[in-house]
Amino acid sequence: MSPVPQPTSLAEEVVSALRAVVGAGSAALHEPSFGGNEWLYVKECLDSSFVSSVGKFVDRFESELASYTGAKHVVAVVNGTAALHIALKMAGVRIDDEVLIPALTFVATANAVSYCGATPHLVDSEESTLGMDAAKLRAHLVSQTEQRAGLCVNRATGRIIRAMVPMHAFGHPVDLDGLLAVAKDFNITMVEDAAESLGSYYRGRHTGTFGLFGTLSFNGNKTITTGGGGAILTNDPELARMARHLTTTAKVPHRWEFVHDEVGYNYRMPNINAALGCAQLEQIDGFLNSKRTLFERYRNAFAAVPGVKMLKEPSDCHSNYWLQALLLEESIAEQRDDILAATNDAGLMTRPAWALMSCLAPFRQCPSMSLEGAESLARRLINLPSSAFLSNRKANPP
Ligand SMILES: *Cc1c(COP(=O)(O)O)cnc(C)c1O
Repeated sequence: MSPVPQPTSLAEEVVSALRAVVGAGSAALHEPSFGGNEWLYVKECLDSSFVSSVGKFVDRFESELASYTGAKHVVAVVNGTAALHIALKMAGVRIDDEVLIPALTFVATANAVSYCGATPHLVDSEESTLGMDAAKLRAHLVSQTEQRAGLCVNRATGRIIRAMVPMHAFGHPVDLDGLLAVAKDFNITMVEDAAESLGSYYRGRHTGTFGLFGTLSFNGNKTITTGGGGAILTNDPELARMARHLTTTAKVPHRWEFVHDEVGYNYRMPNINAALGCAQLEQIDGFLNSKRTLFERYRNAFAAVPGVKMLKEPSDCHSNYWLQALLLEESIAEQRDDILAATNDAGLMTRPAWALMSCLAPFRQCPSMSLEGAESLARRLINLPSSAFLSNRKANPP
C-alpha cells in the first residue's frame, strides 16, 4: 500500500521548491563573490599608498564602466545615494520643487530628493516591470498639473515638478519609452535610478543612459560591489566635468592653493574601493550568466506551485536578475507572511518588497497619485536568495 500523501501547505511547497534549487544548507538574500583579482588590486593600492580619492583604479573603473554601459562619461562616487543627490542637484532640483519617484523603491531614492530640499511626489507601479506606470502618470499629470513658463506645476501645491526618477526594480527595466514621452511632453527632466540594474538593457541600450543622468550603486548587495560605492552616468561632457568638480569639494585645480568656488561635497570614490570595482567588473559576465541560470532554475522549480510565478524580464528588455522575485496571486497574498516565516525558519533568506514610501514616517505627507498597483505588488512580492554562486550549488533531489 502506498503511503497516504500528507497535505502540504503553500509555505512548505515554497520551501521545497527553494531547496530544489539551492540545495541543503542556508542561503542569504545576496552575497558578493570575490573570486577574481580583488586581492591583487587591493594589495596594489596598499603597496602604492594610493588608497584615497586619487589613483589609477578610480580612472580605470570610470573608463571601464563607460565602455560597459555605453555612457560617454562616468563619475565614481562614495555610494549610490550620493550619486542620486548630485545628479538631482545638477538636474536643477531646488528647495520646494517636487520630484516624481516610484512609491515602490528603496528609501535612498526618496532621501536623495529630500537632500535637495525638494519633496518626493509618489508614482504608481505597473506589474510587468514593477516600475513607474507611464500611462497612469500621464493621466495624473494631465489632471493635476499645468504648464507655467515652460515648467510643470502641481496645481494643488503650487510647486514645480522638476524631475522624475524612474527606478529599475530588482534589475527589470521600466517602460522608458513611455516615461521619456511623458518627460518630454510635461517638461520634466529624467534622472534614472539604475542602482539595481547594472547589466540590464532596454531595447538593447544599457539602463541609466536614457535620462540626463543615470546613477549606479556598488553596495555590498548589488550585482558588483566596491564595498560601498556609486557612479553618475551622463553623455554630456560639461555636466560630467561639473559633477566631478562638485563631488571633489569644488576644488579648483592648483599646485598648492586651496580655492573652492562653491559649496562642494566630499563624495569621490576612494581608490581602494575602485580597485575592488575593477576586479568585480572583470567578472560581471559570469555573474550575470549565473543569475540568469538561477532564474531559469527557480522558474522550473516554481512552475508546479499553484498561485505563484517568478518575475521575468519585460519584453524587449534584458534584465540582470539582480534580485529574484516571486509574485503571489492576489487570492493568496495573505499567505505571504507564512511563506516568509517558513523560508527564513529553514535558513533560506527571503524578504518582502520595501515598504512603500507612502508608509514611511518622513514621506507619509508627500503628494501622491493613487497607488493601487504598488500597494498590490507590495503585498505579493517575495525576494528569494539571489547570489550568483547559488546557481552552482548542488540541488536537493526532489
Ligand atoms: C542600492 C540602491 C540605491 C543606492 O544605495 P547606496 O547604498 O547608497 O549605494 C539607490 N536606489 C535604489 C533603488 C537602490 O536599490
